[in-house]
Amino acid sequence: MPADAPPITSPLAVLGGTFDPVHWGHLRIASETATTLKLPEVRLMPSKTPVHRATPGASSEQRLAMLRIAVAQVPGLAVDDRELNRDTPSYTALTLESLRQEFPSRPLIWLIGIDAFMHINLWYEWPRLFELAHFVVLNRPGFAVSQALSPTASEVWQGRLTRSASPLTDTTHGSIFLHTVTPQSISATAIRNTIAAGATDAALLTLLPMPVLAYIRAHQLYRPAQAASG
Ligand code: ATP
Repeated sequence: MPADAPPITSPLAVLGGTFDPVHWGHLRIASETATTLKLPEVRLMPSKTPVHRATPGASSEQRLAMLRIAVAQVPGLAVDDRELNRDTPSYTALTLESLRQEFPSRPLIWLIGIDAFMHINLWYEWPRLFELAHFVVLNRPGFAVSQALSPTASEVWQGRLTRSASPLTDTTHGSIFLHTVTPQSISATAIRNTIAAGATDAALLTLLPMPVLAYIRAHQLYRPAQAASG
């Protein structure tokens, strides 16, 4: 750190995603990671144009509305809608640049499931991501760490792996930390498919908060004509 750099302040963690719809998997991994890594602020950030996947089933406005409803159920989580409010695609590098501009001296921590991290070398300007933020990679049932690391193994980030969580709060960016959370066998794809197959509320309530399910029902989301695989 240069001698004249401002002192490091409190970290800001972000879980980006499509949230189509938000589910207990998202909410639990975010909340549990906030607790175990002592992260004072965790934001869930919906992407506008899904650049790494198929078109979602709900609109941006609906996905945002469901997120707002969901975080109201979970203390310590907030929503950041900046990717929905800009004209460019939701490239994470651009998002991190905007956060870095706003918060020059805060550690930025991008939370990411291992299934998403294994494709990070396909992301827009991916080596630059580590010049802007730390990456905390979270386990997910069905995806092995070895599987995630080997295809993307590269000198660019192999040297960034840290066994200690302290660089996440002592420095502003540049580390990759593998963090184990309670496994959550929940995915938005499975939820969309389950709803399309005509599941009852009782079958869905273990997967997502009741007020989110009520929103889905009220707006008739993910019914057969709208079901998508992801
Ligand atoms: P889809 O099934 O539509 O691909 P998803 O359930 O993976 O959706 P996303 O919104 O794409 O949800 O995920 C946002 C982020 O949360 C990604 O980094 C993803 O890896 C992570 N994530 C989502 N669900 C889980 C889970 N059950 N366990 C660990 N990480 C998860």
